[in-house]
Amino acid sequence: MNDGHEEAVTEAERKMQFLYALRSKGVTDKDVLGAMESVDRGPFIRGLFAGRAYEDMPLPIACGQTISQPSVVGLMTQALEVTPRDKVLEIGTGSGYQAAILSKLARRVYTIDRHRRLVHEARVVFEALDLNNITAITADGSFGLPEQAPFDRIIVTAAAEDPPGPLLAQLKEGGIMVLPVGQSDAVQHLIRVRKTAEGLEYDEMRAVRFVPLLEGLGKDT
Ligand code: SAH
Repeated sequence: MNDGHEEAVTEAERKMQFLYALRSKGVTDKDVLGAMESVDRGPFIRGLFAGRAYEDMPLPIACGQTISQPSVVGLMTQALEVTPRDKVLEIGTGSGYQAAILSKLARRVYTIDRHRRLVHEARVVFEALDLNNITAITADGSFGLPEQAPFDRIIVTAAAEDPPGPLLAQLKEGGIMVLPVGQSDAVQHLIRVRKTAEGLEYDEMRAVRFVPLLEGLGKDT
């Protein structure tokens, strides 16, 4: 017998498991958990891997890129200490999932990707989910977004060897930037940079693996 009840329980269990995985990996901030509970990761993943949206793993998306692991999204978002007044810049829109989580916590989110196709597909999902405080732009994000600078928070979701200078310059005093640094084929580390009146303060978080931050616009595949 299937009265729909069984499926509903499964859905709730899946959500509980998803949140449990986040908590057990150190995502404990209740606002971040709330944002991640309210944004379904499913619509950001198309095709073959759609059924695995609620597992804590990175998955392939178009243009040879990846949607980050939910616990990494959670840890990066938590480290960013976003407040409701913040204007946030994300480099590396990818699927749009990270931007969607940020949109629940910030006033305004600008997100840039070098692949036009990814920006277009992310915009479609933002609209479908009624996330109307996100602006998605196709450009080389290493140069930031001078016309909207400075930003309270900046997050980079592709790995560079060092934090790009233009991004550091576009961070407000008192602002926080979170990004993976390291060579693309080696161990990378998430770092957090705080800009204070005295200068930049760095602290290193965990080891991660991200796709590289590349120059110029991408060829859509
Ligand atoms: N935040 C994404 C995952 C990003 S994957 C999500 O939530 O799904 C990294 C993305 O960075 C890729 O889509 C890649 O195209 C993009 N990228 C790499 N170098 C870039 C650059 N210089 N400027 C903008 N985007 C870049």
